[in-house]
Amino acid sequence: MTDDDERFLRRAIELAAKARAGGNPPFGSLLVGPDGTVLAEAGNTSLTDDDITAHPELKMARWAARELDQDTAARTTMYTSCQPCGMCAGAIERSGLGRVVFALSSEQLNALKPAGSGFPRVPAEGPALWEEARVPVEGYYQ
Ligand SMILES: [Zn+2]
Repeated sequence: MTDDDERFLRRAIELAAKARAGGNPPFGSLLVGPDGTVLAEAGNTSLTDDDITAHPELKMARWAARELDQDTAARTTMYTSCQPCGMCAGAIERSGLGRVVFALSSEQLNALKPAGSGFPRVPAEGPALWEEARVPVEGYYQ
């Protein structure tokens, strides 16, 4: 962790405070390009947008995938006020971003929440219907 990393993390924490002040959950993220330029910033807007996916990390991953070429994305760092959740971690993997630096870990975040809060696991069943389900997929990945 460099001084620059800490400086950009402090900006992510500012964005988290700004999100909270605006009536949203307290999380913020930014992208810093290969030359140290801030490329984009976002705060959580899941309450004001009424959108459960409006996490700043997901917004930044989508922005990176849309706006950056592969090489630039791979040399871009996401700074975020908290360790990305599972939804955002999946999007970050698909975005091509090269690095994530976070302030609070998920464990530290959970320690700040009331006991018993969080999301219940949803039962998932499968696999099933292999012979039918594989048809639209076969040959797609070359
Ligand atoms: Zn998330």
